[in-house]
This record gives sequence, C-alpha cells and structure tokens, in this order.
Amino acid sequence: MGLFDTHAHYGDERFDEDRAALLAALPLPSDLCPCGVEAVLEQGWDIPSSENALALAEKYPYVYAAAGVHPEECLSWNDQTEAALRRLLSRPKTVALGEIGLDRHWEGPDCPWDKQKEVFIRQLALAAELEIPVCVHDREAHGEPFDLIRAQPGVKGVLHAFSGEAELARQYVKAGWYIGLGGVLTFKNARAAVEVAGAVPLERILLETDCPYMAPVPYRGERNDSRKAYAVAVKLAEIRGVTVDEILAQTAANATAADG
Ligand SMILES: [Zn+2]
Repeated sequence: MGLFDTHAHYGDERFDEDRAALLAALPLPSDLCPCGVEAVLEQGWDIPSSENALALAEKYPYVYAAAGVHPEECLSWNDQTEAALRRLLSRPKTVALGEIGLDRHWEGPDCPWDKQKEVFIRQLALAAELEIPVCVHDREAHGEPFDLIRAQPGVKGVLHAFSGEAELARQYVKAGWYIGLGGVLTFKNARAAVEVAGAVPLERILLETDCPYMAPVPYRGERNDSRKAYAVAVKLAEIRGVTVDEILAQTAANATAADG
C-alpha cells in the first residue's frame, strides 16, 4: 500500500532540472517514503499548466491530472477558456477540475475579487454539469467559497490545504466533501489543523503535498515532493491513534472514492 498525494504541482519551474528523474523515482520505496508513492494528482492553475498536467498523466501511469484556473490566474480567463477546459476534462486521465477557488491574500489589481468569484462560479457550474469533482483553494476567504459551493448543489470535491476551523470542516463533511491535509499539520503552530485532523472522520481526509510548496517538518523550507507527505501520514497517525499503514490505506481509498 503506497501513498496517494492528491495535490501536486510538478509543472512548477522548481522541478525543471530533475522532473523526469523525480517522477520516475516516486513509486520506489525510499528513506523519505518507505511505502513508495502509489498515485499523484497533478493540479493545473491555468490552461497551459493544465495541458502540462495531462501530458504528465498520460506519460506516467500513476499520475492523474486536474484541469482548472486558480484564483491568482483569474485574469487569464477568456472566451476560449471554457472550451479548453471541456476538452481537457473529457480525457480519461483528467479526474478533477482544479485547482479553483478564492484567495483574499493575493486579492488586488492583478487578482480582482469580482473576477475571482466569476471564474470560480463558472467552474463550479461546469463541474456540476460534467459531474466531475473539484479541488478548491481557500486562502483567507473562509466561509465565502462554501456559500458559492452550496449555491451549486451536486458539486463535490476537496478543500485542499484546509486552513479553517474544525466547525467549518464538519460542515463541508456534512455536505459530502473531503478535507485535504498537508505539511501544515506538522508545523509547531498547527493548532487549527490538528483540531481538524482529529475532528473529521478519517474516511473524509485526503493526504496532499501542494509541492513544491508546504514541505512538512522535518523538511520545512525545502522543495516539497510527494514522498515527503509520508511525514504528514505519520503525524496524522499519531493524532488519530492508528498505524501509519491504516492512514495510508484509508486516505488512498478516500482519494479513489472522491474521484468517483
Ligand atoms: Zn496548489
């Protein structure tokens, strides 16, 4: 039983120098991840990166793709974007629409709030129509994505790098959603994430990296990759009082179920 990383960005330039070697090595047992990486969901952030995610997924059997427009890239949305997304989402290895969402932290002239919302709502509607799960990014926008999600009944997915309070996590779970947990869980000041990890049913938790970002302790500050999510699984096992193998098996089963 290996590890399922549900949120990666191997298209990021920080992987340019060793992407092929690193991806080829992921399934192999290593000191970082003794069980090996069983599957990776590579997330797009605009159309070119979504095309790139699909190309990686079509090259590596254990890589899957998500296609979507991230809130920070909302101004890239134009008349051709929806058609491009539909094309990408029609391919068998594109299993989710992501990553999409709202970001108050980067809100500004390059990332206007109204445009973020418009692009998010259009992609939620597309996910509902195509019955494909979504990967949602919520940075300092707590509650607002949930309001828009509830306005689109039928849309299901994961709140990636969940950073809200346990009560909001419970509401998402009640609505049939999954909670994505990554490196933050291992940080010293991770009170909210630890509470969430203890409060949500294990059947609703997904493991993720958000690599190259968010490396867990003891790799904090380094470039992250899927193998390092093993440290998150260890921490989650400690919080839940179960074995690491149980965490790996259950979160991998959850990721498969979330993809429908
Ligand atoms: Zn991401």
